[in-house]
Amino acid sequence: MIFHAFLIKYAEIAIKGKNRYIFEDALVKQMNIALSKVEGEFEVKKEQGRIYVFCPEQYDYDETVEALQHVFGIVGICPVVIYEDQGFEQMAKDVVSYMKNCHPNYDGSFKVYTRRAKKSYPITSMEVSAELGGRILDEFPDASVDVHEPDLTLSVEIRDKIYVYSQTIKGAGGMPIGTNGKAMLLLSGGIDSPVAGYMIAKRGVKIDAVYFHAPPYTSERAKQKVVDLAKQVAKYSGPIRLHVVNFTDIQLYIYDQCPHDELTIIMRRYMMRIAEHFAKESRCLGLITGESIGQVASQTLQSLAATNEVCTLPVYRPVIGFDKQEIVERSWEIGTYETSIQPFEDCCTIFVAKHPVTKPNLNVIHRSETKLEEKIDELMKTALETVEIIEID
Ligand code: ATP
Ligand code: MG
Repeated sequence: MIFHAFLIKYAEIAIKGKNRYIFEDALVKQMNIALSKVEGEFEVKKEQGRIYVFCPEQYDYDETVEALQHVFGIVGICPVVIYEDQGFEQMAKDVVSYMKNCHPNYDGSFKVYTRRAKKSYPITSMEVSAELGGRILDEFPDASVDVHEPDLTLSVEIRDKIYVYSQTIKGAGGMPIGTNGKAMLLLSGGIDSPVAGYMIAKRGVKIDAVYFHAPPYTSERAKQKVVDLAKQVAKYSGPIRLHVVNFTDIQLYIYDQCPHDELTIIMRRYMMRIAEHFAKESRCLGLITGESIGQVASQTLQSLAATNEVCTLPVYRPVIGFDKQEIVERSWEIGTYETSIQPFEDCCTIFVAKHPVTKPNLNVIHRSETKLEEKIDELMKTALETVEIIEID
C-alpha cells in the first residue's frame, strides 16, 4: 500500500491559546529537521488545526516513520491514503479497496468516523459513516460494527480530496525541542547519563553536553564512545554541541594533594564547576546528570549535597529515583544501551579509592580543597581554554 501523507497527532489538550502556535511551530521545525535526513522532498503543513506530512512520489516508508518517531511532541503518526474526490460512489469503492489492502479478511469490530473539513459536501458526516459502514460489511461478512469500543476506527476526512487512515503508530511523546530552553548534560560513557539527557530533551529542552576526558588514562576509544552516545541522543534532541574537557591534570593534582577517600567527591565538584562555566557561556538554564540515589558512593544524599553545593544553576537529575534496571530498560528503548556497555574506562573509575567516603562532611571537603589553592586556578583556566568542541548533528 502506498501512503501519500502522514497525519501527525500531538497532545493539544495541554496547549492552549498563544502557546499552541509556539508548540506547533516548534514541532513543524523539528519535523522538517528530522525529515531533511530522509531522501525526497517532504512537505510539512499546518492545516486547520492539524499537521500533515505530504510525501514525495518515491520515498522510504520505514525510514520516514522512524525519523518521525524521533521527534518529541508527536504522540501518534497515522499513514494516510489520499483519493481524488470523484463523488460518493467512487469514495465508497476507494474505502472498500483501502480496507482490502490494509486489513485483508478483517473480521473484528470497527467503526467509520467521518470528518467534513469541506462543509459544502452534500452528505453529512453521519450519513457518510453509516453508508460506508454498510459497504464495508457487504465485503467483510465476518466484521461487525461497534461505535463505542471498536477494534478498528477507519477515519475518512473529506477535504479537497478524500483522506483515509486507520492506523496510529506510536510517537515519542513529550514536547518539541526548543519550547523549553537549553541545558548542559554531563555526558559520560555510562548507561545513565544518555538516558538522563533523553528524558530532559523529551520535555522540549535543547541539549548541549560536556565530557571529561583524561588522556592517556582514558583512551581515544572512550572518547569516541561518548561521541557515539551523543549522536544517538541527538537523533531525538537535534544537534548537540559537545565540549570535551581535558581533565587529566586536575585529576592528578587532586590525587596528589587530597585524601584518597575524598577523591571522587572533590573531582565531581570540579566537574560541576567546569560544566557550569560552559553552561553559562552557552546560555544554558541548568545542568543535567545521570545520578540516581544510592547507586554508588558518590550518589548518597550526602555526596549529592556535596556535589550540588558548588553549583548555582539548578541540577536536573531525571533518573534520581530509578533503579539501575529501570535505567537499563530506558537505554534499550532509546537505543543507547549497546554503546554504553562497550568496555572503555571512564575517568571516574581510574582514580577511584578503595573505600570512598559515603557521607562526606562539607567542612572536611572544604578543608581538603584548600590544599589545591596553589595551582588549581591555573589548571582550571587551562582546562577551560583547551576545551575541544565537537558539533554533533
Ligand atoms: P553514568 O552511567 O551516566 O556514567 P554512573 O553510574 O557511572 O553514571 P558516576 O560515574 O558517579 O555514575 O557519574 C554520575 C554522573 O556524573 C553521570 O551520570 C554523568 O552525568 C556525570 N559524569 C560522570 N563521569 C563523567 C565524565 N567523564 N564526563 C562527563 N560527565 C560525567
Ligand atoms: Mg560513569
